[in-house]
Amino acid sequence: MAMKLVIVGGGIAGLSAAYYAANTNTYSQITILESDSHWGGKIMTERVPFEGGNFIIEGGPDTFLATKPWGVALCKELGLGERLHGTNPHKRNTYVLHRNRLQPLPDGLAMMIPTNVQSILKTRLVSWFGKARMGFDFLQPAKAVNGDESLGAFVSRRLGREAYENLIEPLMSGIYAGDGDQLSLASTFPYLRDLELKYGSLARGALAMRKKAPSTPGSRSAFLTPTTGLAEIVEKLVDHFEANGVTLRLNTRVASVQHLTPDTWNVILDSGERLESDSVVLATPAPVSGKLLEALDPALASVLQSIHYASTATVSLAYRLGDVPRDLDGYGYVIPRREGRRALACTWTSTKFPHRAPDGYALIRVFVGRAGQDADMPRDETSLLALAREELQLTLGISAEPILSRVFVWENAMPQYNLGHPAKLAQIDSALGNHPGLALAGNGYRGIGIPDCINSGKVAVEKIIESRQVENSLSLEATTR
Ligand SMILES: Cc1cc2nc3c(=O)[nH]c(=O)nc-3n(C[C@H](O)[C@H](O)[C@H](O)COP(=O)(O)OP(=O)(O)OC[C@H]3O[C@@H](n4cnc5c(N)ncnc54)[C@H](O)[C@@H]3O)c2cc1C
Repeated sequence: MAMKLVIVGGGIAGLSAAYYAANTNTYSQITILESDSHWGGKIMTERVPFEGGNFIIEGGPDTFLATKPWGVALCKELGLGERLHGTNPHKRNTYVLHRNRLQPLPDGLAMMIPTNVQSILKTRLVSWFGKARMGFDFLQPAKAVNGDESLGAFVSRRLGREAYENLIEPLMSGIYAGDGDQLSLASTFPYLRDLELKYGSLARGALAMRKKAPSTPGSRSAFLTPTTGLAEIVEKLVDHFEANGVTLRLNTRVASVQHLTPDTWNVILDSGERLESDSVVLATPAPVSGKLLEALDPALASVLQSIHYASTATVSLAYRLGDVPRDLDGYGYVIPRREGRRALACTWTSTKFPHRAPDGYALIRVFVGRAGQDADMPRDETSLLALAREELQLTLGISAEPILSRVFVWENAMPQYNLGHPAKLAQIDSALGNHPGLALAGNGYRGIGIPDCINSGKVAVEKIIESRQVENSLSLEATTR
């Protein structure tokens, strides 16, 4: 039977759904619809030729986690395995801004949990009182908790509020540009609760897990990126689609998705055009997917629209090394919410990935905006550039003009898995059970990082194929009864 699949959204989740769907040979026609003028969604790499080399500037994500297997697996399948670079093993420092000064992150973090008593005793990030409070983690038994708990509440009760605010919050909440007192522990770092329940202590649990982890020869990095940026993954996928007859449509905004018949779908474009399809994957941000489904299922649409996304921006600046007074001897620094800065973090890109700047130059990226403060974030290029330069002046003492700069504004980009997110996921899953042939993918649900988004595309395709098979076997059963 000639089966058609339409995928809405050409970010990494939608592209990965198309890739895995094409591999199943289930569909005679696969179409990807993307409203923007480029593929990749949040993945946006700019390569700027400069003095015989290149600046590789990432506007959105700049690396992906190697420990979640789906990113590496896809890269290898696309022939990018040999092009993956780890982070610089020679200058691995990370700093935390504390009272306007950079303090090194203590050694011995395992699963982002401090485990090395010596380095905790030495750190200036936490007072002596705070250090003593951290020790309670070894003594207090696991607490019975009814329902969801916030990341902030959980870490504060295990390690103390000070350690949470000064050390853990900028690392963990920073990944989501979120507010840790709102983020759901179960949806962001569920393993922390598992460590508590199993080992009665985060530090004991993190150490035990580290011992169990398979030892990797050499210094394999936890973070990877292709040589000329993450866009390589997108470019390879697009080449693959062009070679395999997948229909690619940029500048094509979908307005709504409705049933054509109980078994088939109508994907209605802004232009009024209608595409018939047997199955649909919505790989758009959750509130957009909600909007597209308003006519079909208002209850499902309302849950999807309740998933909040924070807005952020990145500002990349390049300098002559001679204009940077401080040795950029690490990957950069994170900024706790309590410091009251408008920046969230600063990556020393050309140290973290030396191949991203020509010799003799530094590339630095300032990450701006976080949940709860993003409404006040400036959106215009001039103000964001000024904000980033002020951050670099205050913290790194850089006053020179950058030799180049790039500003990227990401409106409603970072999903907030806030308290109640697990219940929303259960409602979404149950509602989708009533709509065989429809699936959701993307960063709004079970993981914000690139590997999770890739997996979400794969799982979405598996689910619609499965839902169609169940439906077919039910109708076969009914007709043979
Ligand atoms: C600044 C920043 C830094 C980040 N850093 C990292 C990092 O270092 N590592 C990491 O792993 N992750 C990082 N992330 C997160 C990660 O990049 C994203 O979660 C992921 O790329 C999202 O992929 P997606 O396909 O779900 O969504 P998107 O990339 O948002 O794709 C959704 C697509 O849907 C399209 N669309 C929307 N509405 C419609 C419509 N009506 N019709 C058709 N198309 C539509 C959009 O144009 C978009 O292209 C970062 C994110 C940001 C913003």
